[in-house]
Amino acid sequence: MIELSTHIIEIETQGHTHIIDITDQVQEMLSKEGCEEGQVLIAAMGSTAGITTLEFEQGLVNFDVRNMLSKIAPYDAGYEHNRTWGDNNGAAHLRSALIGTSRTIPFQHGKLILGTWQQIVFIDFDTRARHRQIVLQFMGRKRL
Ligand code: ZN
Repeated sequence: MIELSTHIIEIETQGHTHIIDITDQVQEMLSKEGCEEGQVLIAAMGSTAGITTLEFEQGLVNFDVRNMLSKIAPYDAGYEHNRTWGDNNGAAHLRSALIGTSRTIPFQHGKLILGTWQQIVFIDFDTRARHRQIVLQFMGRKRL
């Protein structure tokens, strides 16, 4: 029988494209749920955040992702969003829209199916530190 369950995990971020490895938290919740086979939807609550997968190593995490996004949506460019709302996070909204706010990851035998060098990451694009909530929605078959 396929069952559905929804959980929220919480994290603290620094903002400014802060990349956080959440793989262990997702796996822990999966183990607690006792799900055997299925998929988990990982969804950020917020329009200035992103969820994707990445090799969580310092070159990509501290430099390469930021450098790539600064070519597409630099923080210091002029944005209509900022002018209209007196806001300063137009770039954060665009980065979030580009990367996307959710991913679905399959699991089997109670383990997330990921590559050896593939971690699930939450990225906070906002221009300030934030307290964030991430929805984990498991859909699958439980252990008998
Ligand atoms: Zn805004």
